[in-house]
Amino acid sequence: MVRQVLVLGGGPAALCMAAALAEQGLSVALLAPHDLRQPWPNTYGIWGEEVDALGLAHLLEHRWSACVSYFGEGAADASDPANRPTPHRRDYGLFNRQALQNHWLEALERGGVELLQGTAMAAQRLEGEGFTAIPTREGPIHQARLVVDATGHQPLLVQRPDEGAVAGQAAYGIVGRFSAPPVQPGQFVLMDYRCDHLSPEQRLQPPTFLYAMDLGDGLFFVEETSLALAPPVPYDDLRQRLEQRLAHHGIRVLAVEHEEFCLFPMNLPLPDLHQPVLGFGGAASMVHPASGYMVGSLLRRAPAVAQAVAAALADPQAPSAAVAACGWRALWPRPLRRKHALYQFGLEKLMRFPEAQLRAFFATFFALPDPLWIGFLANTLTLPQLLLAMVQLFVRAPWSVRWGLIGMRGRELRLGLRLLWPVGG
Ligand SMILES: Cc1cc2nc3c(=O)[nH]c(=O)nc-3n(C[C@H](O)[C@H](O)[C@H](O)COP(=O)(O)OP(=O)(O)OC[C@H]3O[C@@H](n4cnc5c(N)ncnc54)[C@H](O)[C@@H]3O)c2cc1C
Repeated sequence: MVRQVLVLGGGPAALCMAAALAEQGLSVALLAPHDLRQPWPNTYGIWGEEVDALGLAHLLEHRWSACVSYFGEGAADASDPANRPTPHRRDYGLFNRQALQNHWLEALERGGVELLQGTAMAAQRLEGEGFTAIPTREGPIHQARLVVDATGHQPLLVQRPDEGAVAGQAAYGIVGRFSAPPVQPGQFVLMDYRCDHLSPEQRLQPPTFLYAMDLGDGLFFVEETSLALAPPVPYDDLRQRLEQRLAHHGIRVLAVEHEEFCLFPMNLPLPDLHQPVLGFGGAASMVHPASGYMVGSLLRRAPAVAQAVAAALADPQAPSAAVAACGWRALWPRPLRRKHALYQFGLEKLMRFPEAQLRAFFATFFALPDPLWIGFLANTLTLPQLLLAMVQLFVRAPWSVRWGLIGMRGRELRLGLRLLWPVGG
């Protein structure tokens, strides 16, 4: 049996894309090694404005209006304005992962998506005239006119160029109870870069920040995070820094309900847009290179990709490669590729910034007009708006940051030039 589309994976990207394709009236099957109702390991955060625009605010489990960051050094002198919290004036939310998963599973059921359990194998994949056949470890071979690879950041089938070391966002966190609130009650802390608990030697090492939130009923989530680094900051270092930070504030951990070990790639190169298998999600390098977020982007971009695929499949003679090409063009149109280049260039810079420069950069970034910084982080600005945000940031930044932005090191120039000549033409 040759279906129209076979989606590989069981994470947010696979469910989101399968739901969008079914909405187009296509015959779709979803293949994952596990039961698709099995809870995901990760909890996903999103800005309130993004989730509101998607009409999915009811899927949030927590929503905070008191959202702040700290970009001061954190010296005991609280009268120094740099040590005051930076208010974000925007809500932040955490999805109820079961509700998000159910949202997509219900759409799959409505759309008649076939749920298959099995592990796809790359070997012996067969590209036929108008179909692709995917063998599974369990034996059955599944055929479809188009295969969508949504198997995550190390995809099974999608190919990308090798551009050297990939930077990872690494974090170690705990959901637990503490002898004193690690953040203000009812508060969400996006980035706490205060570093007065670190020794002078530690402050020369790659900077890390605290991402933390009050989950209610005396429960808090605290996570020591490295924005991005290649190779990534080891978990042991992050754990040690978290303990040091808490101890500095006189806070003891009373009970640990959950430990999170987080690691995912931030600056994967864009995939080859001419390959016969379409990618989506982590597999298609959709993680925002400057923030690490992806779920909002999945929800926004899936309908256009599904529409393009449906239009291509309307031609019964169209080969898999031609259908995939239409999907790739819809997923990564030129303006998005140019923005991706700019974000990658920016991340490359930030990874080089020492702690004081990084704090100054973020203090300037979050002082931009709200629509600019929020649109930057959500990737909803147009290219001209994004460039305007960059120019404003440069003009407002102190010279320590400006020099860092001007000087080109390593592969920065090559990445920056992709703004003009993006990958894929
Ligand atoms: C701890 C953590 C926290 C994160 N937090 C956020 C956040 O708050 N907000 C945000 O937007 N992003 C976040 N991210 C980034 C990103 O959104 C996630 O990594 C997201 O899970 C990627 O989704 P995905 O569906 O592409 O891949 P995955 O979630 O990795 O799913 C891949 C799926 O493919 C399946 N699979 C693998 N191999 C095969 C095979 N051979 N055949 C069939 N199926 C296969 C796997 O079983 C899995 O179901 C986070 C990432 C991590 C690791």
